Amino acid sequence: MKRVLLCGGAGYIGSHMAKMLAGHGHAVTVLDNLSTGHRSAVQWGTFIEADLLDVAALDNVFGAARFDAVMHFSAYSLVDESVRQPYRYYENNVGGALNLLQAMQRHGVGRLVFSSTASVYGNPAAALIDEDHAKAPINPYGMSKLIVERMLADAAAAYGLRSVALRYFNAAGASEAAEIGEAHQPETHLIPNVLKAVLGQVPGLKVFGADYPTADGTCVRDYVHVEDLAQAHALALDYMERHDGAHAFNLGSGQGFSVREVIAAVEQVTGRQVPYEMAPRRAGDPAVLVASNERAKRELGWQPKYNDLRSIIESAWRWHSDPKF
Ligand code: UDP
Repeated sequence: MKRVLLCGGAGYIGSHMAKMLAGHGHAVTVLDNLSTGHRSAVQWGTFIEADLLDVAALDNVFGAARFDAVMHFSAYSLVDESVRQPYRYYENNVGGALNLLQAMQRHGVGRLVFSSTASVYGNPAAALIDEDHAKAPINPYGMSKLIVERMLADAAAAYGLRSVALRYFNAAGASEAAEIGEAHQPETHLIPNVLKAVLGQVPGLKVFGADYPTADGTCVRDYVHVEDLAQAHALALDYMERHDGAHAFNLGSGQGFSVREVIAAVEQVTGRQVPYEMAPRRAGDPAVLVASNERAKRELGWQPKYNDLRSIIESAWRWHSDPKF
């Protein structure tokens, strides 16, 4: 049994993490400022409403309970918004992480699993991106995450912090029981927006860019199920028992799908037409992002269970056709 603090545990990926850790018998504490998370998504563990920018609140949290490890999911994560509001991203994502790391150090907590992103790579120079690919973010969101990764490497060398940064590709899907799922306000992500378009909850999907250098002109992404992401975090906790230093792993399925292919898959799963129109490119979007996930498989022992787009969309559809919050 480990005592784990989940920063951002009321959010999409964090809430699935809380469920999995509680299911494995770990003691979970969720810390969240509820800026984008949902109180009703916190169904496992203890809840503390606090902000990572509030240093005194962090000292209270770490002073009141002992934690074996921290998982850090709290961040702003919209590429387009980060291009328009970079200070907000650096303050929250870099400043918040620094406060957290310093609080962990003051209170003797030496293990961190960090939510990183494929956006640290920028425009890929290879069809499959592995962890050694050049890090050249093309938007402030990706840069904010890369800076934190760098802080983790520096903290490993200077203070012996053990960490695992998990570079997510495109998180999708919902818990098997569909009691929690993806609910961003406003929703900007592709799969929820396609499903909302099918359900008539938005006027129609806008496809951002049909002139990319891809087979059908639309962006290609690697969709990975949220429960598979959570599984990798659980494995990262064990990994830090065996390995010191700062480590990073890609979490993706290894397969890329275009926006048009996602639309077609949603039409197959739901049996309904997707109303959509072409729109200009969105700022900060690379044409293609697909993971090599070999390192996570080899070193963490990660085996994604959802290995086809259809089952990921079926899972998202179960949630979106009956969302609980
Ligand atoms: N996208 C789109 N319409 C939408 C939302 C997204 O065409 O309403 C495209 C977006 O431009 C990108 C892909 O779908 O190429 C995935 O975007 P998403 O926001 O889901 O994830 P990101 O790759 O930005 O993390």
